[in-house]
Amino acid sequence: MSEPLHDVIVAGLGAHGSAAAYHLAKRGQSVLGFDRFVRGHTLASFGGLSRIIRLSYYEHPSYVPLLRRAWDLWRELERESGETLLTQTGGLYMGPPEGELVSGSLASARTHGLAHELIDNAELRRRYPVFDVDPDWVGVADAQAGWLAPERSVETHLRLAERHGATLRFTEPIERWERDGDGVRVTSAQGSYRARRLVIAAGSWLARLLPQLAPHLWVERSVLFWFEPRADRDAFARLPVYIVEDTDRIFYGFPYIEGQGVKVAGLHFGDPADPDLLDRTASADDEERVRGWLRRRMPLANGERRDAKVCMYTNTPDGHFIIDHLIEDSNVIVASACSGHGFKFASVIGEILADLVLDGETAHPIGFLSSERPGWDLAL
Ligand SMILES: Cc1cc2nc3c(=O)[nH]c(=O)nc-3n(C[C@H](O)[C@H](O)[C@H](O)COP(=O)(O)OP(=O)(O)OC[C@H]3O[C@@H](n4cnc5c(N)ncnc54)[C@H](O)[C@@H]3O)c2cc1C
Repeated sequence: MSEPLHDVIVAGLGAHGSAAAYHLAKRGQSVLGFDRFVRGHTLASFGGLSRIIRLSYYEHPSYVPLLRRAWDLWRELERESGETLLTQTGGLYMGPPEGELVSGSLASARTHGLAHELIDNAELRRRYPVFDVDPDWVGVADAQAGWLAPERSVETHLRLAERHGATLRFTEPIERWERDGDGVRVTSAQGSYRARRLVIAAGSWLARLLPQLAPHLWVERSVLFWFEPRADRDAFARLPVYIVEDTDRIFYGFPYIEGQGVKVAGLHFGDPADPDLLDRTASADDEERVRGWLRRRMPLANGERRDAKVCMYTNTPDGHFIIDHLIEDSNVIVASACSGHGFKFASVIGEILADLVLDGETAHPIGFLSSERPGWDLAL
């Protein structure tokens, strides 16, 4: 019997691989997907019950068209699946007026005509008394923002991918891949499989499958905490998702969510990690980094610890994603969309990856995410 030839193999079924499998299967491709862990695992970058989605994007205005499409696609996915995945709460970004957070959010909002409000210091204090706001800070309120349920979003993409005909295999890491005639061959411990195209969306393990990326990516340990507020739970429940640019770093958090508490974390403490050797226990030091900030800025949130989760960012040198074909083999498409902010894009990145597989190009404006972007010497 001749060996089956699939249209596409997807290596990694987390945030972006699950979305790619869904879009490809929905567009009629025969999809074979693999994940290294069991279905429903939370050992990669997408675990932790909530992920912020926001449109007035301080990181760069070029992301905004992708975010608009991502938002619509999350809503479409909800309609197709019957799941509620995105909760709109609005967003609040506070810090010095000239800081990257406030000035970057305003730049995106103004460039793209997004609904937003600039809030002065006195009004910030009046509206959001749970924060101890620095006298020099202002705020930006972003109307189109909220949070996604990441584990259920991934599972929904997987379930609908299967409904559209995809075959998904779990607890089967891809060990290597190679060119095979006009297509690609991938090998796991269980077998060897052929396809016309390969999408690699392996998150923190990406450099294992693409060693040429190893010098450009670094994996960072990151710890999320959930606390029970000491008082005024209702005021926390009314909060939007928020990001605060403080003197030492950015902190961010979510409103009080029933059954979870208040989730807070700091961005980029800079702890390097190996995805296979990650210390998955939140330490007293990890907790103190966040509690120290709560004592200063949100004292009523500094209550009993309800939970903690260790996670991984996969950082690029400039903090922007890489979505591209490999130069050496255009049948292979790579998505490294993390640097701590990629989940919200998963719905549109799935669509983009499907475009790249089917058409070799996409109408979405992703030139700024190319591996050959100006100022960057990475050639995949
Ligand atoms: C603490 C934390 C907070 C974050 N907060 C936000 C936020 O608020 N908003 C936001 O938009 N983003 C956020 N992010 C970023 C977001 O979660 C990531 O950008 C996103 O999960 C990356 O998706 P991915 O598909 O590249 O990787 P992952 O989601 O990690 O998926 C990779 C998958 O590949 C599998 N895999 C790896 N190697 C192999 C192999 N060899 N064979 C088969 N399968 C393999 C893994 O098991 C995994 O399932 C956060 C990230 C962290 C860590």
